[in-house]
Amino acid sequence: MERYDIAVIGTGPAGVSAAITAKVRGKKLILFGSRHLSEKVEKAHSILNYPGLPNVSGAELANAYRMQLDSLDIPITEKQVTAVYAMGDYFAIQTPDDMVESTAVILAAGVVTSKALPGEDAFLGRGVSYCATCDAHFYRGKTVAVLGYSEQACREADFLAETCEKVLYFPAAPHEVQVNGRVEVVREKPAAILGDRQARTLETKSGKRFDVDGIFILRASVAPDKLVPGLAVEDNHIQVDLQMRTNLRGCFACGDAAGPPYQYIKAAGQGNVAALSAVAYLAEQK
Ligand SMILES: Cc1cc2nc3c(=O)[nH]c(=O)nc-3n(C[C@H](O)[C@H](O)[C@H](O)COP(=O)(O)OP(=O)(O)OC[C@H]3O[C@@H](n4cnc5c(N)ncnc54)[C@H](O)[C@@H]3O)c2cc1C
Repeated sequence: MERYDIAVIGTGPAGVSAAITAKVRGKKLILFGSRHLSEKVEKAHSILNYPGLPNVSGAELANAYRMQLDSLDIPITEKQVTAVYAMGDYFAIQTPDDMVESTAVILAAGVVTSKALPGEDAFLGRGVSYCATCDAHFYRGKTVAVLGYSEQACREADFLAETCEKVLYFPAAPHEVQVNGRVEVVREKPAAILGDRQARTLETKSGKRFDVDGIFILRASVAPDKLVPGLAVEDNHIQVDLQMRTNLRGCFACGDAAGPPYQYIKAAGQGNVAALSAVAYLAEQK
Protein backbone atom coordinates (compact mmCIF):
# COMPACT_ATOMS: atom_id res chain seq x y z
CA MET A 1 0.00 0.00 0.00
CA GLU A 2 1.20 3.52 -0.83
CA ARG A 3 2.47 5.33 2.28
CA TYR A 4 2.40 9.12 2.64
CA ASP A 5 4.79 11.12 4.80
CA ILE A 6 2.05 13.35 6.20
CA ALA A 7 -1.74 13.08 6.11
CA VAL A 8 -3.62 16.29 6.93
CA ILE A 9 -7.26 15.92 7.98
CA GLY A 10 -9.30 19.09 7.43
CA THR A 11 -9.32 21.95 4.93
CA GLY A 12 -9.99 24.93 7.20
CA PRO A 13 -7.22 27.49 7.88
CA ALA A 14 -5.33 24.99 10.09
CA GLY A 15 -5.31 22.14 7.56
CA VAL A 16 -4.62 24.39 4.56
CA SER A 17 -1.70 26.01 6.37
CA ALA A 18 -0.30 22.62 7.49
CA ALA A 19 -0.60 21.25 3.95
CA ILE A 20 1.17 24.29 2.44
CA THR A 21 4.10 24.00 4.86
CA ALA A 22 4.37 20.22 4.40
CA LYS A 23 4.42 20.66 0.64
CA VAL A 24 6.95 23.50 0.74
CA ARG A 25 9.16 21.20 2.85
CA GLY A 26 8.94 18.59 0.09
CA LYS A 27 6.88 15.96 1.92
CA LYS A 28 4.64 13.39 0.28
CA LEU A 29 1.26 14.66 1.39
CA ILE A 30 -2.40 13.75 1.35
CA LEU A 31 -4.99 16.40 2.33
CA PHE A 32 -8.49 15.21 3.30
CA GLY A 33 -11.41 17.62 3.29
CA SER A 34 -13.59 19.44 0.82
CA ARG A 35 -13.11 21.68 -2.20
CA HIS A 36 -15.43 24.09 -0.34
CA LEU A 37 -12.70 24.07 2.34
CA SER A 38 -14.63 24.98 5.51
CA GLU A 39 -18.14 26.23 6.23
CA LYS A 40 -16.65 28.38 8.98
CA VAL A 41 -14.54 30.20 6.42
CA GLU A 42 -17.10 30.37 3.59
CA LYS A 43 -19.84 31.77 5.85
CA ALA A 44 -17.97 34.68 7.45
CA HIS A 45 -19.27 38.03 6.20
CA SER A 46 -16.24 40.16 6.80
CA ILE A 47 -13.06 39.32 8.65
CA LEU A 48 -11.29 42.23 10.31
CA ASN A 49 -8.44 40.49 12.11
CA TYR A 50 -6.55 38.55 9.42
CA PRO A 51 -3.21 40.30 8.90
CA GLY A 52 -2.49 41.40 5.35
CA LEU A 53 -6.10 40.97 4.20
CA PRO A 54 -8.08 43.85 5.71
CA ASN A 55 -11.85 43.38 5.66
CA VAL A 56 -11.71 40.24 3.55
CA SER A 57 -14.90 38.16 3.23
CA GLY A 58 -14.88 34.46 4.10
CA ALA A 59 -15.59 33.57 0.48
CA GLU A 60 -12.61 35.67 -0.67
CA LEU A 61 -10.34 34.11 1.92
CA ALA A 62 -11.46 30.60 0.89
CA ASN A 63 -10.78 31.49 -2.73
CA ALA A 64 -7.29 32.70 -1.88
CA TYR A 65 -6.64 29.43 0.01
CA ARG A 66 -7.86 27.39 -2.98
CA MET A 67 -5.66 29.34 -5.39
CA GLN A 68 -2.62 28.80 -3.17
CA LEU A 69 -3.29 25.06 -2.90
CA ASP A 70 -3.70 24.85 -6.68
CA SER A 71 -0.56 26.86 -7.35
CA LEU A 72 1.43 24.47 -5.14
CA ASP A 73 -0.23 21.48 -6.81
CA ILE A 74 -1.83 20.23 -3.58
CA PRO A 75 -4.96 18.23 -4.46
CA ILE A 76 -7.80 17.84 -1.97
CA THR A 77 -8.97 14.29 -1.38
CA GLU A 78 -12.71 14.85 -0.95
CA LYS A 79 -13.35 12.11 1.56
CA GLN A 80 -14.49 12.04 5.16
CA VAL A 81 -11.95 10.31 7.38
CA THR A 82 -13.86 7.87 9.59
CA ALA A 83 -11.02 6.55 11.76
CA VAL A 84 -7.29 6.92 12.33
CA TYR A 85 -5.43 4.01 13.91
CA ALA A 86 -1.94 4.33 15.41
CA MET A 87 -0.07 1.28 14.13
CA GLY A 88 3.34 1.90 15.73
CA ASP A 89 5.53 3.53 13.08
CA TYR A 90 2.65 4.66 10.88
CA PHE A 91 -1.07 5.50 10.92
CA ALA A 92 -3.86 3.70 9.07
CA ILE A 93 -6.43 6.24 7.88
CA GLN A 94 -9.86 4.92 7.04
CA THR A 95 -12.31 6.63 4.68
CA PRO A 96 -15.72 5.32 3.58
CA ASP A 97 -14.19 3.44 0.65
CA ASP A 98 -10.52 2.82 1.32
CA MET A 99 -7.62 2.94 3.73
CA VAL A 100 -4.36 4.84 3.33
CA GLU A 101 -1.16 4.80 5.35
CA SER A 102 0.87 7.76 6.52
CA THR A 103 3.92 8.07 8.77
CA ALA A 104 2.62 11.24 10.44
CA VAL A 105 -0.87 12.65 10.75
CA ILE A 106 -2.09 16.19 11.41
CA LEU A 107 -5.58 16.55 12.85
CA ALA A 108 -7.13 19.85 11.70
CA ALA A 109 -10.77 18.81 11.67
CA GLY A 110 -12.20 21.76 13.62
CA VAL A 111 -14.21 21.59 16.79
CA VAL A 112 -17.12 19.22 17.25
CA THR A 113 -20.08 20.91 18.86
CA SER A 114 -22.79 18.26 18.76
CA LYS A 115 -22.99 16.16 21.90
CA ALA A 116 -23.19 12.38 21.93
CA LEU A 117 -26.76 11.07 22.24
CA PRO A 118 -27.69 9.35 25.48
CA GLY A 119 -26.71 5.70 24.95
CA GLU A 120 -24.33 6.47 22.05
CA ASP A 121 -21.07 5.94 23.95
CA ALA A 122 -22.40 2.94 25.87
CA PHE A 123 -23.49 1.09 22.70
CA LEU A 124 -20.62 2.12 20.41
CA GLY A 125 -19.40 -1.12 18.82
CA ARG A 126 -22.50 -2.92 20.16
CA GLY A 127 -25.05 -1.86 17.58
CA VAL A 128 -23.87 1.74 17.18
CA SER A 129 -21.44 2.50 14.35
CA TYR A 130 -19.88 5.59 12.77
CA CYS A 131 -18.85 3.89 9.52
CA ALA A 132 -21.24 2.35 6.98
CA THR A 133 -18.48 0.85 4.83
CA CYS A 134 -16.79 -0.81 7.79
CA ASP A 135 -19.88 -2.29 9.43
CA ALA A 136 -22.62 -2.72 6.77
CA HIS A 137 -21.90 -6.47 6.48
CA PHE A 138 -22.92 -7.01 10.14
CA TYR A 139 -26.45 -5.94 9.20
CA ARG A 140 -27.08 -8.01 6.07
CA GLY A 141 -30.84 -8.58 5.79
CA LYS A 142 -31.49 -6.54 8.95
CA THR A 143 -33.08 -3.19 9.85
CA VAL A 144 -30.88 -0.19 10.57
CA ALA A 145 -31.41 3.46 11.44
CA VAL A 146 -29.13 6.11 9.93
CA LEU A 147 -28.83 9.40 11.81
CA GLY A 148 -27.69 11.70 9.02
CA TYR A 149 -26.08 15.07 9.67
CA SER A 150 -25.01 15.98 6.10
CA GLU A 151 -25.63 15.15 2.44
CA GLN A 152 -22.72 12.72 2.55
CA ALA A 153 -24.78 10.64 5.03
CA CYS A 154 -27.46 10.20 2.32
CA ARG A 155 -24.90 8.45 0.10
CA GLU A 156 -23.97 6.19 3.02
CA ALA A 157 -27.65 5.36 3.59
CA ASP A 158 -28.00 4.43 -0.12
CA PHE A 159 -24.99 2.16 0.27
CA LEU A 160 -26.47 0.49 3.38
CA ALA A 161 -29.69 -0.17 1.47
CA GLU A 162 -27.70 -2.49 -0.84
CA THR A 163 -27.02 -4.80 2.12
CA CYS A 164 -29.73 -4.22 4.72
CA GLU A 165 -33.36 -5.30 4.55
CA LYS A 166 -34.61 -1.89 5.73
CA VAL A 167 -32.92 1.48 6.18
CA LEU A 168 -34.64 4.27 8.14
CA TYR A 169 -33.07 7.69 7.54
CA PHE A 170 -33.43 10.31 10.29
CA PRO A 171 -32.20 13.77 9.17
CA ALA A 172 -30.57 14.79 12.47
CA ALA A 173 -29.33 18.21 11.25
CA PRO A 174 -30.56 20.50 8.44
CA HIS A 175 -29.38 19.32 4.99
CA GLU A 176 -30.85 18.40 1.64
CA VAL A 177 -32.14 14.84 1.91
CA GLN A 178 -31.84 12.89 -1.32
CA VAL A 179 -31.88 9.14 -0.87
CA ASN A 180 -32.86 6.33 -3.20
CA GLY A 181 -36.28 4.68 -3.09
CA ARG A 182 -35.11 1.85 -0.83
CA VAL A 183 -34.36 4.23 2.06
CA GLU A 184 -37.29 5.38 4.19
CA VAL A 185 -36.98 8.96 5.46
CA VAL A 186 -38.34 9.50 8.99
CA ARG A 187 -38.60 13.17 9.92
CA GLU A 188 -38.24 12.68 13.68
CA LYS A 189 -35.39 14.04 15.82
CA PRO A 190 -33.31 11.30 17.48
CA ALA A 191 -33.23 11.59 21.29
CA ALA A 192 -31.70 8.42 22.78
CA ILE A 193 -30.47 4.92 22.05
CA LEU A 194 -31.87 2.14 24.20
CA GLY A 195 -30.97 -1.52 24.51
CA ASP A 196 -29.64 -4.25 26.74
CA ARG A 197 -26.26 -5.72 25.83
CA GLN A 198 -26.86 -4.46 22.28
CA ALA A 199 -28.52 -1.29 20.94
CA ARG A 200 -32.11 -2.24 20.08
CA THR A 201 -34.24 0.90 19.89
CA LEU A 202 -33.99 4.49 18.71
CA GLU A 203 -36.17 6.85 20.71
CA THR A 204 -37.11 10.20 19.18
CA LYS A 205 -37.86 13.56 20.80
CA SER A 206 -41.58 13.05 20.25
CA GLY A 207 -41.34 9.82 22.29
CA LYS A 208 -41.70 7.39 19.37
CA ARG A 209 -39.61 4.24 19.46
CA PHE A 210 -38.12 2.45 16.44
CA ASP A 211 -36.83 -1.08 16.94
CA VAL A 212 -33.69 -1.65 14.87
CA ASP A 213 -30.72 -4.02 14.70
CA GLY A 214 -28.14 -1.26 14.25
CA ILE A 215 -27.76 2.52 14.37
CA PHE A 216 -25.33 4.40 12.13
CA ILE A 217 -24.50 7.89 13.37
CA LEU A 218 -23.00 9.80 10.45
CA ARG A 219 -21.92 13.27 11.56
CA ALA A 220 -19.99 15.74 9.40
CA SER A 221 -17.24 15.55 12.00
CA VAL A 222 -16.53 12.97 14.65
CA ALA A 223 -15.32 13.69 18.21
CA PRO A 224 -11.52 13.52 18.12
CA ASP A 225 -11.11 10.63 20.57
CA LYS A 226 -13.65 8.62 18.56
CA LEU A 227 -11.83 9.46 15.33
CA VAL A 228 -8.46 8.46 16.79
CA PRO A 229 -8.69 5.77 19.48
CA GLY A 230 -6.25 6.48 22.33
CA LEU A 231 -6.03 10.23 21.69
CA ALA A 232 -5.92 12.35 24.86
CA VAL A 233 -8.80 14.84 24.88
CA GLU A 234 -10.03 17.33 27.45
CA ASP A 235 -13.37 19.15 27.18
CA ASN A 236 -13.70 17.86 23.60
CA HIS A 237 -10.35 19.42 22.56
CA ILE A 238 -7.23 17.49 21.66
CA GLN A 239 -4.46 17.93 24.22
CA VAL A 240 -1.34 19.36 22.57
CA ASP A 241 1.98 20.84 23.65
CA LEU A 242 3.47 24.01 22.14
CA GLN A 243 4.82 21.97 19.20
CA MET A 244 1.26 20.74 18.50
CA ARG A 245 2.24 17.20 19.50
CA THR A 246 -0.52 15.00 20.88
CA ASN A 247 0.00 12.08 23.27
CA LEU A 248 0.38 9.76 20.22
CA ARG A 249 3.84 9.85 18.62
CA GLY A 250 3.62 11.13 15.05
CA CYS A 251 0.14 12.59 15.57
CA PHE A 252 -0.24 16.38 15.70
CA ALA A 253 -3.29 18.61 16.09
CA CYS A 254 -4.01 22.25 15.33
CA GLY A 255 -6.72 24.88 14.98
CA ASP A 256 -10.09 24.78 16.73
CA ALA A 257 -9.61 21.04 17.31
CA ALA A 258 -6.76 21.91 19.70
CA GLY A 259 -8.85 24.37 21.73
CA PRO A 260 -9.82 28.05 21.94
CA PRO A 261 -9.47 30.83 20.98
CA TYR A 262 -11.34 29.94 17.81
CA GLN A 263 -9.63 32.25 15.33
CA TYR A 264 -8.46 31.94 11.72
CA ILE A 265 -4.97 33.25 12.27
CA LYS A 266 -4.41 31.10 15.36
CA ALA A 267 -5.58 28.05 13.39
CA ALA A 268 -3.30 28.88 10.46
CA GLY A 269 -0.34 29.53 12.80
CA GLN A 270 -0.83 26.24 14.61
CA GLY A 271 -1.15 24.44 11.26
CA ASN A 272 2.28 25.76 10.33
CA VAL A 273 3.79 24.61 13.68
CA ALA A 274 2.14 21.19 13.39
CA ALA A 275 3.58 20.68 9.90
CA LEU A 276 7.09 21.70 10.99
CA SER A 277 6.84 19.34 13.97
CA ALA A 278 5.71 16.54 11.64
CA VAL A 279 8.70 17.27 9.39
CA ALA A 280 11.03 17.04 12.42
CA TYR A 281 9.35 13.77 13.46
CA LEU A 282 9.89 12.30 9.98
CA ALA A 283 13.57 13.24 10.19
CA GLU A 284 13.85 11.45 13.58
CA GLN A 285 12.24 8.33 12.09
CA LYS A 286 15.05 8.09 9.54
C1 LIG B 1 -19.69 32.74 10.99
C2 LIG B 1 -18.28 32.72 11.56
C3 LIG B 1 -17.50 33.85 11.53
C4 LIG B 1 -16.21 33.84 12.04
N1 LIG B 1 -15.48 34.99 12.00
C5 LIG B 1 -14.20 34.98 12.43
C6 LIG B 1 -13.39 36.16 12.34
O1 LIG B 1 -13.85 37.22 11.88
N2 LIG B 1 -12.11 36.08 12.75
C7 LIG B 1 -11.55 34.93 13.24
O2 LIG B 1 -10.36 34.92 13.53
N3 LIG B 1 -12.31 33.81 13.35
C8 LIG B 1 -13.61 33.79 12.99
N4 LIG B 1 -14.36 32.64 13.10
C9 LIG B 1 -13.75 31.43 13.71
C10 LIG B 1 -13.04 30.58 12.63
O3 LIG B 1 -13.99 30.27 11.68
C11 LIG B 1 -12.44 29.28 13.17
O4 LIG B 1 -11.64 29.53 14.30
C12 LIG B 1 -11.57 28.61 12.08
O5 LIG B 1 -12.33 28.33 10.92
C13 LIG B 1 -10.93 27.34 12.61
O6 LIG B 1 -10.19 26.75 11.59
P1 LIG B 1 -9.87 25.18 11.62
O7 LIG B 1 -9.05 24.93 10.40
O8 LIG B 1 -9.32 24.80 12.93
O9 LIG B 1 -11.28 24.45 11.53
P2 LIG B 1 -12.48 24.58 10.49
O10 LIG B 1 -12.44 25.88 9.76
O11 LIG B 1 -13.70 24.24 11.26
O12 LIG B 1 -12.16 23.45 9.41
C14 LIG B 1 -12.26 22.09 9.73
C15 LIG B 1 -12.23 21.29 8.45
O13 LIG B 1 -12.12 19.89 8.73
C16 LIG B 1 -12.99 19.17 7.89
N5 LIG B 1 -13.27 17.89 8.55
C17 LIG B 1 -13.85 17.69 9.76
N6 LIG B 1 -13.88 16.37 10.05
C18 LIG B 1 -13.30 15.75 8.99
C19 LIG B 1 -13.06 14.37 8.69
N7 LIG B 1 -13.38 13.41 9.55
N8 LIG B 1 -12.47 14.06 7.50
C20 LIG B 1 -12.13 15.04 6.62
N9 LIG B 1 -12.32 16.37 6.87
C21 LIG B 1 -12.91 16.70 8.03
C22 LIG B 1 -14.20 20.10 7.77
O14 LIG B 1 -14.98 19.75 6.66
C23 LIG B 1 -13.47 21.42 7.58
O15 LIG B 1 -13.05 21.53 6.25
C24 LIG B 1 -15.67 32.64 12.61
C25 LIG B 1 -16.47 31.50 12.66
C26 LIG B 1 -17.76 31.52 12.14
C27 LIG B 1 -18.59 30.26 12.22
